[in-house]
Amino acid sequence: MRPYLLLTPGPLTTSETVKEAMLSDWCTWDEDYNVGIVEVIRKDLVALATQHPEDYTAVLMQGSGTYCVEAVLGCTVRPSDKLLILSNGAYGNRMGIIADRQGLAYDMVAFEETMAVDPAVVERYLSQHGEVTHVAFVHCETTTGILNPLADLARIVKAHGKKLIVDAMSSFGGIPLDVEQLGIDFLISSANKCIQGVPGFGFIIARRSELQACKGVSRSLSLDIYDQWETMEKGHGKWRFTSPTHVVRAFKEALEELKAEGGVAARHARYCKNHDVLVGGMEALGFKALLPAAVQSPVITSFLYPEAGFDFKSFYAALKAKGFVIYPGKISQADTFRIGNIGDVHPADFERLVEAVKACREA
Ligand SMILES: *Cc1c(COP(=O)(O)O)cnc(C)c1O
Repeated sequence: MRPYLLLTPGPLTTSETVKEAMLSDWCTWDEDYNVGIVEVIRKDLVALATQHPEDYTAVLMQGSGTYCVEAVLGCTVRPSDKLLILSNGAYGNRMGIIADRQGLAYDMVAFEETMAVDPAVVERYLSQHGEVTHVAFVHCETTTGILNPLADLARIVKAHGKKLIVDAMSSFGGIPLDVEQLGIDFLISSANKCIQGVPGFGFIIARRSELQACKGVSRSLSLDIYDQWETMEKGHGKWRFTSPTHVVRAFKEALEELKAEGGVAARHARYCKNHDVLVGGMEALGFKALLPAAVQSPVITSFLYPEAGFDFKSFYAALKAKGFVIYPGKISQADTFRIGNIGDVHPADFERLVEAVKACREA
């Protein structure tokens, strides 16, 4: 069932047991599914997100992570509001595209893709722009693997009394954080990233009072997180429309496996080890990481092409033949490729990968 390992940031390599969990059929209206699976997941997600769960709730939404980002922006930013988007990569930029399409009033403050979002710039901007009501940014910008300074940024946003929306798609479950401590109002992630499920839905951890304030704001029916949440609350885990039942069942298994591993701290430690083995091995082979270690996340690592004229296509094909699928780069300033460290992959897999890279380079 595993022709190769996916060293990509999602879909990623999942365990056999997560895949096996999809072998039964579930009824989207039956309580075995609603109460037995969906409600358990919603509760577990809030517990993963904070040690003070009282004020928070979780909504699951069909689609990929972007659907949830679009749903949150479209349900929170009213015509009289102003959104500030902080971007240092493709996913931050995508929030701008969503805001454009939805006709939201917004400003974007953009940073270099190889630099973290700068809290001092954000502080200055918010001091000068009292009209901003909401601030949104990406925690781990998967474009490069850069980790934005979540705690510093959250502190500034909350000190200015703004609503805080965080795309923690590629970090939630793999990097410890607490939404209540940070003051996050809406955190967005999806099934197929650090929780190590399969793709098919995303989720939002929301401050309940802020979610309740979203009633009637959405102009989209299917992406209305308030309606979706209300149906889930009243129907004890019912989704409004057909839910990806097999994917949701697999996600419950993935959450159990996260607990069995020792929770987010243990998973974070494994991803860090994966990253260290990868970078140590690649550097010994003459590759250089794109980002300085200080801003590098353990989620995904960008490497510069080792020489001009490097043939990524053949490198990719040779590694795939040896059992590893890697990822092309996504930035314009430099020629890079990316290797993901998340999923059911372990330090020994990265030792084998480094051997495979060595063999490809010598061939
Ligand atoms: C994966 C990801 C998304 C969502 O992308 P989809 O293709 O819709 O799943 C959004 N933001 C970040 C930072 C991501 O890594």
